[in-house]
Amino acid sequence: MKVPLLDLTRQYAELRAEIEPAVAALMASQQFILGPKVGEFECALAGYCGTRFAVGVSSGTDALLIALMAAGVGPGDEVLTTPYSFFATAGSIARAGARPVFADIDPVTFNLDPARADERVTPRAKALMPVHLYGQLADMAALGDLARRHGMTLIEDAAQAIGAEHGGRRAGAFGDFGCFSFFPSKNLGGFGDGGAVTTNDEQRARRLIRLRNHGMEPKYYHGEIGGNFRLDAIHALVLNIKLKRLEAWHAARARNAERYAALFEESGLLRRGLVRLPRAVTDRPVWNQYIIRVARRDDLVAALKAAEIGCEIYYPVPLHLQKCFAHLGYREGDFPESERAARETLALPIFPELTEAEQAAVVGAIAAFYKAG
Ligand SMILES: *Cc1c(COP(=O)(O)O)cnc(C)c1O
Repeated sequence: MKVPLLDLTRQYAELRAEIEPAVAALMASQQFILGPKVGEFECALAGYCGTRFAVGVSSGTDALLIALMAAGVGPGDEVLTTPYSFFATAGSIARAGARPVFADIDPVTFNLDPARADERVTPRAKALMPVHLYGQLADMAALGDLARRHGMTLIEDAAQAIGAEHGGRRAGAFGDFGCFSFFPSKNLGGFGDGGAVTTNDEQRARRLIRLRNHGMEPKYYHGEIGGNFRLDAIHALVLNIKLKRLEAWHAARARNAERYAALFEESGLLRRGLVRLPRAVTDRPVWNQYIIRVARRDDLVAALKAAEIGCEIYYPVPLHLQKCFAHLGYREGDFPESERAARETLALPIFPELTEAEQAAVVGAIAAFYKAG
């Protein structure tokens, strides 16, 4: 059985009847830039995240960049973050003109380890940017405390964690800024690129709104330099329709995670130490990815690809070892847990519409690989 890593056409089949007329109405109006659709979505998103404000932007990457700009981060500043994330986390720090300073991860959650981050704080550290990787929250109690003690702005990279909840609070509501992506593969995905920044501070929200539109206020007066970081109305419209289904999709992902746990238990692979499953530490993770640690990872990936079982390596090269960051002076061995995660982990299909038969096929193919030796 062929199993895709992600199949968005199944989701769209259920939404088509609602989305198509709404998009047709927008096209008839020809009102594509900002406007009421963006405003409606921003209100709904702030309500969903439990923050006072949400500002729609052009991508998750731009959400990170604009949050750094609004925090006043620039040349001479350092921003503490994790080396085990999608490139945009550290890329946005460098684009803001600051220096990414990495600290190793906790091997259980794959998220920034607060104790390791604490060791890397210098007087130049202006911001702290933890990532809620794969849909599980970073240790925000400890990281919030660290940020407060050193006067660092706390910017959450919540691109993979919309709706993740701990202690009654949701991703994006812990820090000074929460950054979201609506890239199609995220739990809430648009019809292209999109993002948002959440905040509880009105001054910060106003600055984000100016910065996403060339630092302009009022029209054609520019108090500071921003960019074109606007969210398109068409994406806002689609996202607003999809946001109403998000809780049901989270529940389906959680059910799929439980099914994997049962299927892997039955397979004997856990007992033999060949596969290790992800552990939920967050009260409610949202399972953007289902990440296992496996023996002989690269051979297994080749076997799964040959068997047409969708899987992916997130991320094969930690950020401190990326060529473009060579000038930062990090070396192999600097962050052993990040490097080990990059070598050992593998993402399996977890999307909401995945069937039980497909999950059984995924686990069956993995069992067959180890049986073949
Ligand atoms: C997807 C992602 C981003 C970037 O979002 P885009 O919308 O693709 O620009 C940033 N950080 C993390 C952790 C992500 O997964």
